[in-house]
Amino acid sequence: MKKIIILFIGLSTTVFSQDNVKFSKTINIDDLEKHLNILASDSLEGRETGKPGQKMAADYIMNHFKNIGIPPYKKDTYYQKFKVKSGRHLCKCDDCDVNLVKKILGNRKKIKGENVLGFIEGSDLKDEIVVITAHYDHLGKHDSLVFNGADDDGSGTVGAMEIAEAFMLAKTAGKGPRRSILVMTVSGEEKGLLGSKYYTDHPIYPLENTVANLNIDMIGRIGDFKDNPNYVYLIGSDMLSTELHDISESVNKQHIGLELDYTFNMEDDPNRYYYRSDHYNFAKNNIPVIFYFNGLHEDYHKVTDTVEKIDFKKIETITRLVFLTAWELANRDDRIIVDKKGN
Ligand SMILES: [Zn+2]
Repeated sequence: MKKIIILFIGLSTTVFSQDNVKFSKTINIDDLEKHLNILASDSLEGRETGKPGQKMAADYIMNHFKNIGIPPYKKDTYYQKFKVKSGRHLCKCDDCDVNLVKKILGNRKKIKGENVLGFIEGSDLKDEIVVITAHYDHLGKHDSLVFNGADDDGSGTVGAMEIAEAFMLAKTAGKGPRRSILVMTVSGEEKGLLGSKYYTDHPIYPLENTVANLNIDMIGRIGDFKDNPNYVYLIGSDMLSTELHDISESVNKQHIGLELDYTFNMEDDPNRYYYRSDHYNFAKNNIPVIFYFNGLHEDYHKVTDTVEKIDFKKIETITRLVFLTAWELANRDDRIIVDKKGN
């Protein structure tokens, strides 16, 4: 009898653990490509925060959330609108075009942007939330040159959209997450992480109930120092929670098999990547984060960051890793523990 019970438990966990893999496979190159062809097209004029192209991108993402069955997070809106002063541009490289940066920041006028929220309510642990972010804004159009931002961060945005869809398909099949999932595409990143800062200053869901933030910023290209495409840089995974790091490692080992590269995973890394994308606004509120990043390349912040150069297989693989990691964070019995102090 004991043997049978053990066998049964073994079997049911395998069956359960296969659901995650099954739904991760709904994240596919065709869908990613379809979305990115629109978001990184010239007609969206580089999605500069406050400009019509950014509003069109917001609209496109909102319609995707609607189409996959996510209801508005409040009354009839998916947007969290903000109006703030432009911040300091946090370029990830040191040799950025200063004139361009000045144009992007304008004269520190107030900027109106919006975050687009896809909130997928969990089941028995729904008050706890796993947040997935990617910034959908980019550098805009200047002197008739369009900065398409296909990698930065069209790649992360379409990944986040597909993660939302995979969780919704799971939910419709009765396999929805136990904790809630907030897929939030933010704007204002290029003007100083404005959208994510606005959210963490004005959280829609309590920060103390926010379990983790997985932030995707640039996952569609091969970085300068890499030849083999099967890697991703991870930054922050062990800064606040050893458990988060261990889960991320084991999910990758079990299902994906990417090289997880921690070269930039240091608070004193001279590139300061830990501080240069949206996850930092969560980390500074003591929420464990992982930043998924492919590193800089020759087209970073140039008009040549276009969709033809994107490696969609790479986006697919990394997005599946993020989804499977979020799945584990959302479905495990205990919330991950914060065992370290940030700064
Ligand atoms: Zn970016």
